[in-house]
Amino acid sequence: MAAPSSYRPTIGLEIHAELKTRTKMFCASKNEPEGSSPNAHTCPVCLAHPGTLPVINREAVKQVLRVGTALNSTLAEYTEFDRKSYFYPDIPKGYQISQYEYPLVSGGALNDVAITRVHLEEDTARSTHEGGKSLIDFNRAGVPLMELVTEPVIHDAETAGRFARELQLLLRTLGVSDANLEKGEMRIEANISVSKDETFGTKVEVKNLNSFRSVERAIAYEVERQSTLIDSGGKVVQETRGWNEGTQETFHQRFKEGSADYRYFPEPDLPKLVRSELAELSSEVLAASLPELPWERRARYTALGLKEEDTEIFLQDESLTALFEGVVAHTNGDSEIVRLTGNYILSDVVRLLRDSDTKGNVEHLRADYFFSLMQMIKEGKISSRGAKEILSEMYLSGGAPEDLAEKNGLLQVSDTEALRAAVLEVIALNPAVAEEFKAGKESVIQYLVGQAMKATKGAGNPGVLKGLLEEELRK
Ligand code: ADP
Ligand code: MG
Repeated sequence: MAAPSSYRPTIGLEIHAELKTRTKMFCASKNEPEGSSPNAHTCPVCLAHPGTLPVINREAVKQVLRVGTALNSTLAEYTEFDRKSYFYPDIPKGYQISQYEYPLVSGGALNDVAITRVHLEEDTARSTHEGGKSLIDFNRAGVPLMELVTEPVIHDAETAGRFARELQLLLRTLGVSDANLEKGEMRIEANISVSKDETFGTKVEVKNLNSFRSVERAIAYEVERQSTLIDSGGKVVQETRGWNEGTQETFHQRFKEGSADYRYFPEPDLPKLVRSELAELSSEVLAASLPELPWERRARYTALGLKEEDTEIFLQDESLTALFEGVVAHTNGDSEIVRLTGNYILSDVVRLLRDSDTKGNVEHLRADYFFSLMQMIKEGKISSRGAKEILSEMYLSGGAPEDLAEKNGLLQVSDTEALRAAVLEVIALNPAVAEEFKAGKESVIQYLVGQAMKATKGAGNPGVLKGLLEEELRK
């Protein structure tokens, strides 16, 4: 029996994201799917009362087109909405308004994975089943939902996971969606097939993937299951499967409807959209609305000299990035200061923010103060231990680093002549050690530096003291 790994997996992703617009997709109800109480944000339109008329949310259209612009996709000149018919209690109209023939966005790529399309539709109500009863909450009904579909061009679980993470980062950067998987603001479905050659096998769709790890594990599980099934003479059937987080297995949910079952037809209650008729949807206006994109920021931070893993932490954390950017704006491209800033933010600031015992205020960490602190370190005016102390006090009670250094006696003396006396004294008090150094055992210098630090009560700059000791001992 061939090892399952001899099959080539193929994966295509379908990813939904709830858009952060003020109101819902086709009515003026508040877009707050996790509303304070069930059915708090509803109206006759999103409750599907007969005879009500939908109105297109321009902001939602614009956000999807911004995503398309970022992905280098083709933005539709002409687009329309369609009715996708199916029966379920969470969609009481009997159909969902979606897009079929004319999606807003087609083509483009993310992380070298080709995108098929991105379209706009409405979310359904949320149903919960408890104690033999089903409850329906319409806060989510009609929330703008973006659906992105990739081409079947992914061939391993890691690439699929990386794609989904990068999309989440893009949606957050664009401010289009909060895209939290746990809250269902971003939902990932993976289509998976295996084959022996370049042809495509029958695909299976896996739903309920509530984390990026689940996406990767479900793909690995399906590749194994399908391969073993084929090896034992079975056949993969086209179906929708769920992911069981507890057992880490996929399980059959239902056999898939073909698109013919949905009876798609153009929504007669909505106008067609011709993009050239709306100035705010022109390619130029959309392009100008984009912030720095994740891959652009990555390239810039790399050029600034940041380590790859540090850059990724910044990309995931807006407030740390804001501080970093603020300080970098003062540096004039000084790579030493940039490096120090990155290090101090990602180690010391992160620790201060994480430690719940220290009740400080991030606002105290002003970019100009932070920059001064980094400069003081670079110029040897304070030790790294002193810098940590100053940073912590800045965070807790505020203040300029120069003042705090002065107040706490943390300023290092770098004035050579002021320190030379201390160095001469240390050499005179430690003749045996000095002889060892002169005989070639240069590591003893550390001991002498320590003694000189003591002699200056910690105020001597160790680098300067070391230089002076070497100078005197080599005379
Ligand atoms: P359907 O009509 O069943 O919805 P689509 O062609 O629209 O199928 O594709 C839906 C998703 O499935 C897309 O993400 C696509 O990349 C993926 N897909 C299509 N064929 C395969 C396959 N053989 N193996 C894995 N994924 C596939
Ligand atoms: Mg499809």
